[in-house]
Amino acid sequence: MAKVLIIGAGGVGSVVAHKCAQVPEVFSEICLANKTIKKCFEIATSIETRIGRTIKVAEVDAMRVDEVVRLIKKYEPDIVINVALPGQDLTIMAACSETGVFYLDTANYEPPNRAEFCYKWQWGMNPLFKYKSNMAVLGCGFDPGVTNIFCAYAQEHLFDKILKIDIVDCNAGDHGYPFATNFDPETNIREVIQPGKYFCKGKWVMIPPIVNGEGNRKSFCQTFDFPVVGPKKMYLLWHEEIQSIMENIHGLEQVRFWMTFGDEYLTHLRVFQNVGLTKIKPVEFEGREIIPLKFLSALLPDPASLAKNYTGKTCIGVRLEGEKDGQPKNAFIFNVCDHEQCFEEVGSQAISYTTGVPAMIGAKMVLTGEWGEIGVRNVEEFNPDPFMEDLNKYGLPWTIYLDKDVPKIE
Ligand code: NDP
Repeated sequence: MAKVLIIGAGGVGSVVAHKCAQVPEVFSEICLANKTIKKCFEIATSIETRIGRTIKVAEVDAMRVDEVVRLIKKYEPDIVINVALPGQDLTIMAACSETGVFYLDTANYEPPNRAEFCYKWQWGMNPLFKYKSNMAVLGCGFDPGVTNIFCAYAQEHLFDKILKIDIVDCNAGDHGYPFATNFDPETNIREVIQPGKYFCKGKWVMIPPIVNGEGNRKSFCQTFDFPVVGPKKMYLLWHEEIQSIMENIHGLEQVRFWMTFGDEYLTHLRVFQNVGLTKIKPVEFEGREIIPLKFLSALLPDPASLAKNYTGKTCIGVRLEGEKDGQPKNAFIFNVCDHEQCFEEVGSQAISYTTGVPAMIGAKMVLTGEWGEIGVRNVEEFNPDPFMEDLNKYGLPWTIYLDKDVPKIE
């Protein structure tokens, strides 16, 4: 029996709140806080109607440590689940550290003034969390999150040695818009306009951003035969879990992250980039400063609003190559999630669902003592088994293909 404070009432926050409400034996009280409180009221009404539970709501500006501290002191949660935006990670972590409350998030910190994302800032808070005997769990969505846990599970149960990891992320859904992003537009666009990077044979290899067009070069783009959704073109990107997997899965020769994009999505992005709409440095407009990317984000559909008409499925998984008992071994661990089923269950699309369910399960792991270390931790550092069991139980069942059944990759 524990109290949870969820910060962020967007697409993911809505799923986290609904899923926590479905597990009253762990989350006995729930408070949902957001910058715009109206969004919290709408989610609270949906939870009341669908699940018959009442949750508390609050207004907070999570960019301000003092406001988050005040809210934590007032509500006294056992854990804070941060599903606001990456720019708020450090302030919410600082508030959790100050008040001695567990912290969990789904995306790494991004500085506002440059398109860069990695764990260095949050890992830098490790000594503080250790000193306070507190724990922060980083990256507990799907990717990062479940993908890291699939790697930990494979290391524990399937391989003696893992040599190569390819994380493959496919959204084969259709939301009906010519261009929309499945999660916060600013975060999503910053992710794909920056140069890519992967680890190969002991060194980092830099590659151009996919919007540059050179992404079509064979080694940065290939077709992968995803189970259930079929063959899709996917592109090599930098993603933060490469960094933590490199730290926590030993003996790796290669780690890459791939994501599928439709041609129309990439064409739109290229145009936005070419006309300067993806810039994150302020420009002067009619006597005031605006940030073009923020302006573009304001024009795009709210990711949560895509849910109603979304059809199709996602397939996200981890392909591994290595050795077992002296023999070469391949494995592919994956989940398939259906947009329409997610909407029916909690009123959300599958990208929000596949992120929100793991965040709820991670918080459950912490509150029930299944995961208990001090310091700032990534999810693959914990026991994967109870988490993997809960994925099957709470809506994200997984499948393992072995050896000859594993889809090919170059
Ligand atoms: P949304 O844009 O739908 O929601 C973000 C929410 O954060 C909004 O409700 C917004 O409120 C709120 N917010 C923004 N600034 C503040 C602030 N200063 N104080 C309080 N609340 C604030 O995004 P998503 O729900 O799609 O994504 C949420 C998080 O999940 C992001 O960090 C994203 O990167 C991450 N994510 C992780 C994935 C994974 O697999 N690991 C996959 C997808 C997303 P308001 O509208 O009032 O500004």
